[in-house]
Amino acid sequence: MEPKSQNPGRRRWARTKIVATVGPACRETQKLSEIVSAGADLLRLNMAHGSPELYQPIVDDIRQISRQLDQPIAILADLAGPKIRLQEIDGGSIFCHRDEEFFFVRENPADSHELTSTYLTLVDELAKGDVVMLADGTVSMLVEEAKAGRVRLRVIEPGTIRSRQGINLPDVRLSAPAISVEDYQHAIWAAKAGIDYVSLSFVRSPDEVRTLKDIVRSNGSRAGIIAKIEKREALNRLDEIVAEADGAMVARGDLGVEIDVARIPLEQKRIVRACQEYQKPSIIATQMLDSMQDSPRPTRAEATDVANAILDGADACMLSGETAIGQYPREAVEMMNRSAVATEEMIAGRPPREAVRPRADNLQEITRAVVRGAGTMAYSLNAKLVVVASHSGRTAQALSQQRSWAPTIGVSTSEATLRKMCLYWGVRPLRGAPATNVEQLIRHADAWARAEQLAQPGDRLIIVGGSHLAAGPEGAADLAAGIHDIVIVHQVEAATGAG
Ligand code: PEP
Repeated sequence: MEPKSQNPGRRRWARTKIVATVGPACRETQKLSEIVSAGADLLRLNMAHGSPELYQPIVDDIRQISRQLDQPIAILADLAGPKIRLQEIDGGSIFCHRDEEFFFVRENPADSHELTSTYLTLVDELAKGDVVMLADGTVSMLVEEAKAGRVRLRVIEPGTIRSRQGINLPDVRLSAPAISVEDYQHAIWAAKAGIDYVSLSFVRSPDEVRTLKDIVRSNGSRAGIIAKIEKREALNRLDEIVAEADGAMVARGDLGVEIDVARIPLEQKRIVRACQEYQKPSIIATQMLDSMQDSPRPTRAEATDVANAILDGADACMLSGETAIGQYPREAVEMMNRSAVATEEMIAGRPPREAVRPRADNLQEITRAVVRGAGTMAYSLNAKLVVVASHSGRTAQALSQQRSWAPTIGVSTSEATLRKMCLYWGVRPLRGAPATNVEQLIRHADAWARAEQLAQPGDRLIIVGGSHLAAGPEGAADLAAGIHDIVIVHQVEAATGAG
């Protein structure tokens, strides 16, 4: 158990990371600051609902809040990918009655029964017998006749459709490129704006992940690429996609339309397991605390969903409408943090997890052995924390994947590395103090752990360092060679003034 906080109002940190989507309900500085203080580690910018012009001032704001709170905050730019949407519907929405006829036309609809989409050639690619899902899969229509430029559909599942809602075509292979011109522009903006993670919607193959990575890298960014798994094609090539990406998101909103919603729980477990095998972070997304858009409390089922995602082994849980447009954005983050803290008790006392594919971590072999050793030592000595000085964040990521009860403190002087760590389960990023040797790293970690009430005099910390701690580009400590070859057991000092 962690030492009881001397400040009872203080929030307990969840090891599971929380992604909160930015939207009208939380995009003012004060609201953003509140959701970060409540526990949000990553803030998602949904590029399907905003442009770089809208988001750049928000990025600047988030960076400013990060400095004020002295806390790294990661930003995830979520690219729309080949998502097709309805264009404007006359009057904004329309109820579609069972057996009623609707039409898709290329442009200039004559009335509210003529629908247009953002994908102009949809009318040429639909064929008789195709099923078109609308309104998050609640409304469906069957294509009965497809003539050039005009497609006739009949309503099978009735309901209301609204302007700009997504269109899902579960078994239709469209020729739409994976990365649209707009996605491309957004990816370049994200790279130049120093965004930490970029996710791609509707990924179908590992090549698409590679293409996005190339775009981002050639624009000077090391942003992590997150593959959103929300198509059957992605499930069919899951291993290859996860191997290529830096992490994956179980995008249950669209996945639940593209495949039978009854299969979502099993597919969620399969995606999380694939990420564990490749030692990459996984994010569970959509409707986790959905009712909290309108209520300050979640349903029992939602609280259980968050807990089950964590028990499945997810690194992060995501809030979408709850923080973007809901009435209780701060409460939703607080609730997720509380659920995570309560669920993580399950992990207490468990030995570190063995890697299924030990070489999937891309680590140098000495570092890999040191990571394993540090996890085992932390477990058998009941250490309060594992502290690692990390240049790229890879060693912190490998420690995270062991799911040790002792949190990992990732010390770095690189802001980009610290922000990357915001997605790693159990890792708390700590801005590094100028240090050129392991003793200084120990003093810094010791003082910080006591100040944060994460360790008391006599508690043990496991320090993972390198014999080549050297001055990094910002004039402070980092592991220049990237090799961790030292593990030290440190007993927290009683003396004051250290660090
Ligand atoms: C989803 O479909 O679950 C998802 C996260 O994507 P978006 O919010 O972009 O629809």
